Amino acid sequence: MTEIPSGGDVSRETSLIDIAAEPVSRETTGPNLADTPIAAEAHAALTISGPDAALFPRPPARRVIAVANQKGGVGKTTTSVNMSAALALRGAQVLCIDLDPQGNASTALGVDHGEGVPSVYDVLLGELTLGEVVSRTAIAGLYCVPATIDLAGAEIELVSMVARESRLQRAVATLEQSFDYVLIDCPPSLGLLTVNALVAAREMLIPIQCEYYALEGLGQLLRNVELIRAHLNAELAVSTILLTMYDGRTRLADQVAEEVRNHFGSLVLGAAIPRSVRVSEAPSYGQTVMTYDGGSRGAQAYLEAAREFAELGATTGAGPDD
Ligand code: ADP
Ligand code: MG
Repeated sequence: MTEIPSGGDVSRETSLIDIAAEPVSRETTGPNLADTPIAAEAHAALTISGPDAALFPRPPARRVIAVANQKGGVGKTTTSVNMSAALALRGAQVLCIDLDPQGNASTALGVDHGEGVPSVYDVLLGELTLGEVVSRTAIAGLYCVPATIDLAGAEIELVSMVARESRLQRAVATLEQSFDYVLIDCPPSLGLLTVNALVAAREMLIPIQCEYYALEGLGQLLRNVELIRAHLNAELAVSTILLTMYDGRTRLADQVAEEVRNHFGSLVLGAAIPRSVRVSEAPSYGQTVMTYDGGSRGAQAYLEAAREFAELGATTGAGPDD
């Protein structure tokens, strides 16, 4: 693993106001990926097959995306890992950061996250850098920072720490490998872990489940985004909404989809992810659906969603909102 300067300045005394006044430093250029051993190997191993295997455009600068929605079970983790996998399979260098103590994204990516495994928890505590806890996955170009159950305590431990809201942001900013995408899988709450993700990210991807209560809580989520923008990260934008678990046979799913599209317009990706058993089975094999059953409807939908996501951000590197 490449030596990465440790985030020693994490402990610098920083108040909320400091952070707001300070331009958030975002690394837009980095060392050439091919220079780092971890990436050189990934490039060499990059194999893409199939008739529609054209590479997606890569963003001009790193895109950091928080996949967030405080509701549980809406498809955050499924979206994080499958979008990450689809982007990597189409030529991007992708880091998926698991920020949920349950470690479901780590499981789906086949990455060890037993208690005590070096993880995002150690990064938030300032003891390790992201580069020191990155794991390879079975997919070339796709890397994962695992979350262990230790992270469950972080929400409370962070409260008394300096720069508690911007610890992940600092860790991401000092990340040496030039990933095209960093996707952060958030826990189902609006606590300090999610706040860290929203401060680290420039974009937010909100998965919305096509069910009756889908829109409940969205107002609160968006108000929180405004608070983060006002105080901690002025660059944050909701760049993407993805409809998940869409069941075309029900009128309800259509109604929810229509309501979301009316409200959020072009932020909503054209591709909606269908409810599919293959999608839900894949994690139990330590896989994403992209590798578990790449031809399935779920995998194809995630591939299409990832294509739109890549194309929308190809020119600005920061999503359609910019
Ligand atoms: P969250 O991370 O928001 O809590 P998950 O991604 O873990 O949500 O999804 C919740 C549950 O729904 C999981 O069991 C997952 O396998 C299942 N699931 C997610 N998306 C789909 C889908 N498109 N089709 C079928 N099951 C899905
Ligand atoms: Mg989850």
